[in-house]
Amino acid sequence: MLTQNLGYPRIGSRRELKKVCENYWAAKTGLKNVLTVGKYIREENWLLQKEAGIDLIPSNDFSFYDQVLDHSFMFGAIPKRYHEVIAQKGNTELDLYFAMARGYQKDGLDVVAMEMTKWFDTNYHYIVPEFYKDQQFKLFSTKIIDEFYEAKQLGILSKPVVIGPVSYLLLGKEKESGFNRIDLVKNLLPVYFDILNKLKALGAEWIQFDEPFLALDLDEKARQVYKDTYQAIKKEFPSLKIMLATYFEQLGDNTALATSLPVDALHIDLVRAPKQLDSVLTQLQEKVILSLGVVDGRNVWKNDFDKSLEIIKKAVGTIGAERVWIAPSCSLMHSPCDLQNETNETVLTPEIKQWLAFARQKISELVTLAKLSDAEVSGGSLHQLAINREANEARRSSTLIHNRAVKQRVAAITENDAKRTNVFSIRKALQQQVFNLPLFATTTIGSFPQTAEVRGWRARLKKGELTQTEYDQLIAAETEKAVKWQEEIGLDVLVHGEFERNDMVEYFGEQLAGFTFTANGWVQSYGSRCVKPPIIYGDVSRPEAMTVKWSAYAQFLTQKWMKGMLTGPVTILQWSFVRNDQPRSETCTQIALAIRDEVCDLEAAGIKIIQIDEPAIREGLPLRKANREKYLDWAVKAFRISASGVQDTTQIHTHMCYSEFNDIIKNIADMDADVITIETSRSQMELLDAFADFKYPNDIGPGVYDIHSPRVPDRMEMISLLKKAQAVIPDAQLWVNPDCGLKTRGWDETKSALIEMVEAAKVIRESV
Ligand code: GLN
Ligand code: ZN
Repeated sequence: MLTQNLGYPRIGSRRELKKVCENYWAAKTGLKNVLTVGKYIREENWLLQKEAGIDLIPSNDFSFYDQVLDHSFMFGAIPKRYHEVIAQKGNTELDLYFAMARGYQKDGLDVVAMEMTKWFDTNYHYIVPEFYKDQQFKLFSTKIIDEFYEAKQLGILSKPVVIGPVSYLLLGKEKESGFNRIDLVKNLLPVYFDILNKLKALGAEWIQFDEPFLALDLDEKARQVYKDTYQAIKKEFPSLKIMLATYFEQLGDNTALATSLPVDALHIDLVRAPKQLDSVLTQLQEKVILSLGVVDGRNVWKNDFDKSLEIIKKAVGTIGAERVWIAPSCSLMHSPCDLQNETNETVLTPEIKQWLAFARQKISELVTLAKLSDAEVSGGSLHQLAINREANEARRSSTLIHNRAVKQRVAAITENDAKRTNVFSIRKALQQQVFNLPLFATTTIGSFPQTAEVRGWRARLKKGELTQTEYDQLIAAETEKAVKWQEEIGLDVLVHGEFERNDMVEYFGEQLAGFTFTANGWVQSYGSRCVKPPIIYGDVSRPEAMTVKWSAYAQFLTQKWMKGMLTGPVTILQWSFVRNDQPRSETCTQIALAIRDEVCDLEAAGIKIIQIDEPAIREGLPLRKANREKYLDWAVKAFRISASGVQDTTQIHTHMCYSEFNDIIKNIADMDADVITIETSRSQMELLDAFADFKYPNDIGPGVYDIHSPRVPDRMEMISLLKKAQAVIPDAQLWVNPDCGLKTRGWDETKSALIEMVEAAKVIRESV
């Protein structure tokens, strides 16, 4: 039985790629160094997989920025606005590539970056291909061929990875009207043929075609294009072996389609969708190999060998061992690199560490599973099986994981716990008596600039160069400055500024029971940006209040209303590695109860306006439409549980960004926050239409300026956006605020922009 890998993390086990790229962008290092580091990472990854004993090792899974951008580059799908970049003196192809990813501003040339969006339901972001009518493609970059050759030089006959033509086109966007991007396939296929010919000439045997869209809802046209495309490829390359990879969902109603395509192997994700095994086994064509994605590529838990072996046994029993491969569920780029780098036992305790497996460990798991499925399984692998059983048993029965009180509390939740006492219209009247806020009340989303200075204090606290008291004093002074300044410019509802927080999820995770952290568990989020998600390993509870101290202090500094600031349960869940021994909904509900306690404590401490951020509620939406309602039900309920412990006179805000709201507007309304602030300025208030069309009943603060750019908009710009909002939403419902938190901005631009914002609100107020 063979093992294959679908992709390995390419950031380098010590984030070498991040460092060299950022140095290159800052002109602190040269092209040669960037290329050398890239080569080093590829070699390290290949050799590591070879030594572990993986049979089919991927190539072209490396990328300097993003694999989808690599494909646009490979096919010459380079929008016109970048052509001048390469014409500029001294620029190389890599500069052109980075210009597409990040935009370009140099020597009088000013070009914006290509759009970036989420890779399916992961926290990875890819660069969206841009398509035009009658677009022609040509082989522009030979990266895939070069890397195949490079691996071959190392003695590895790799399996090049390409995104299949249908998925590549579906990942992109039409940039003009009058055509359907999927029809471009006829122009695109010749470039695939060109590449395949070159790879074949170099001796490639297997090619991996990633077609994740086969696991999503497809229309008839896309299905037909799938059939035509793969038939055309097979016809052109009868002897080249094609491994078709699907992941993140079940094939479901596309099973007949996927199993009818003329390919040599089919990969399915049995971690996300274990139930699909039976139907795929029945429909698989004779001779086609089935690759079983049994090792979770998207989470950090050690594989349960007994469970995987059961799946493998079933497949082998039906189609024979020669036709079964073992693989991770998807590319391992969504896993941290190497658990061996976690040596700090105060960060990650040995007890929890033994439950985990990162990319490198997952590679070994695949090899061991293959050996264990062998009829003549040997002593060494049996020993591995014993260790695996022991670790999983230790995890199941660990006292660290289970907290009776938490489970009982979740079981005892009633409908009333997820409901405010009265409906919004009654609450609004009661709150108005308390707060007496003007029309178009002004506020901000929570954070103020996290300057290098503020981050420096935290670093020094960690290193022991500052005592906790010294650190707290510095944060207190920064908070006071921010509060005074907000008072001065006349904002209506103030915030404390979140200076004490490293990150909106980590800050809470660090204080909640059931969470742990890693020192080096980095995962690529986009380009050179990596995140280190917390790990939720056990029942979640809140040993003590988490934010009351800072919020109460800030309220004490002012006569104005201070808004308490919390991260919501769905967002905390979504941006963590979540335990896999109970449904996500259960974990989310536990977090909701912890946040509920915090909300109640804030209220008791005199904080009467509390914001519970849920920027990630939309991104948790299941890929298949049929699963969405169920997710939205528990996600919305979790938010309501967190928000409903307070009196009607306490005002609950929520905040969402990077979202399209159309398909979930009903559910957002169900969240029943008294006020929702959303990101709308970049879409020129277009995103507000969903709220208007739905006649969204509660209060809304549409963002009036983009916080992603240092640009300071003037009041006229904001007034015109506010007028747009007024045209679709009644005045009595509108608030005035920026798109999102200001932590990434500098103070100068923040101050200027907010002064303009307060003035804009005044002008609008006077006009009604
Ligand atoms: N309160 C958070 C902040 O202002 C919200 C961040 C977010 O929506 N991503 O930073
Ligand atoms: Zn936001």
